[in-house]
Amino acid sequence: MQVSEQRRAPASSPAERRQRHDENKLVKRLLRETGRAIHDYGMIEDGDTVMVCLSGGKDSFGLLDILLTLRERAPIRFDIIAVNLDQKQPGFPEHVLPDYLRRKGVRFHIEEQDTYSVVTRVIPEGKTMCSLCSRLRRGILYRVADELGATKIALGHHRDDILATFFLNLFYGGRLKAMPPRLVSDDGRHRVIRPLAYVAEKDLIAYAAMRQFPIIPCNLCGSQENLKRQEVGRMIADWDQRFPSRSWNVFGALSRVVPSHLMDRDLFDFVGLAPNGIARPDGDTAFDGDDSGAYFGDLPAGVRQRFQD
Ligand code: SF4
Repeated sequence: MQVSEQRRAPASSPAERRQRHDENKLVKRLLRETGRAIHDYGMIEDGDTVMVCLSGGKDSFGLLDILLTLRERAPIRFDIIAVNLDQKQPGFPEHVLPDYLRRKGVRFHIEEQDTYSVVTRVIPEGKTMCSLCSRLRRGILYRVADELGATKIALGHHRDDILATFFLNLFYGGRLKAMPPRLVSDDGRHRVIRPLAYVAEKDLIAYAAMRQFPIIPCNLCGSQENLKRQEVGRMIADWDQRFPSRSWNVFGALSRVVPSHLMDRDLFDFVGLAPNGIARPDGDTAFDGDDSGAYFGDLPAGVRQRFQD
């Protein structure tokens, strides 16, 4: 059953009414933000076949569910095919995803590849296996996309993944670099999209609980997510508790870059810079004021709206 079909008996108690109200707001927000990201980055076009990579985690379940609803409402026609890679981790419940997808009437493909054996053989015990595992998975998914005739590969990365990648690059990599909403794959042959780019992780957690997705944990293999990524994730979650606007401000900044006020000589010709006699009110004085959120009103409408929900 899809979001738009949800109809339940009228809520009877104030607590139930509040819950219903919160769930409706959550669904509207998820659809609005996903739709906006798809539009802003031209992610899906008429006639596309979108291969949704379904790992069994909350993010990919949410992505598939939201895309199915948006497809019903979209003015364009596109196909969706869900693809799961069964990596043969011990204890992987093989029946869960096919059962779920059949119930929903979604076209799907399960690709069976024992990357678990490869990863556990190559990586010394006690070391994190996720990096090699992800690389292997990526290569297989590119091949499957070709075989299925998919024109787009959709991944379930969300706002907090983008922010975490940005901070990891900043803190440990010395680069201003995040995770793009749309890109060409590293083999140069596929279009990869991240329709949940504007969605906060806490919304996907709430949505997964609300929709009762049959979630399969990724760490069946016993590996642990990179500790630095965990640390950055905790930092963002803590900010969201204590300073709700901070993460959105940083996120908004990723699409409001001012190369002339950074230091990358490849992005801006500092050496060739010369006075032109024209005063600019938004020149170097623009950020000499306080940091109390005075620039909030200047944020793009999409980011501003999140504070008003
Ligand atoms: S937790 Fe295991 S299955 Fe998940 S990415 Fe890491 S190595 Fe791969």
